[in-house]
Amino acid sequence: MSDPNCIFCKIVAGQIPCKKVYEDSELLAFHDIHPWAPVHVLIIPKVHVAMLSEVDETHEKWLGKMLLLAPKLMKELGVTNGFRTVINTGPDGGQEVYHLHMHVFGGPRPWAKG
Ligand code: C5P
Repeated sequence: MSDPNCIFCKIVAGQIPCKKVYEDSELLAFHDIHPWAPVHVLIIPKVHVAMLSEVDETHEKWLGKMLLLAPKLMKELGVTNGFRTVINTGPDGGQEVYHLHMHVFGGPRPWAKG
């Protein structure tokens, strides 16, 4: 459920601070510490799943909620002209933190990560 060595699990547990924008029983969203866009939010599940290639059917509910949350948060954060969503997966996908997360980039370009 939680990995004591995972930085995002520590954020979920409140052991490392974050600029939180949303929280419910399954998800947490916060501003990326090194933003690549005027608005750069990470949406993560509270449960520890290392990457998208490790999800299964039991994760369907919060996976769907991650996508539903992205447009809602962008609207709340004043992003009115579109946004980009990215899930880096594994070494070739450029993933650095091995706790599944969805980047949401909003605001005027350049916003592309990688
Ligand atoms: O998709 P990837 O694993 O490369 O991205 C990890 C992201 O987590 C980075 O954009 C990094 O800035 C962010 N991060 C964060 N807060 C931390 C550690 C990493 O926002 N404490």
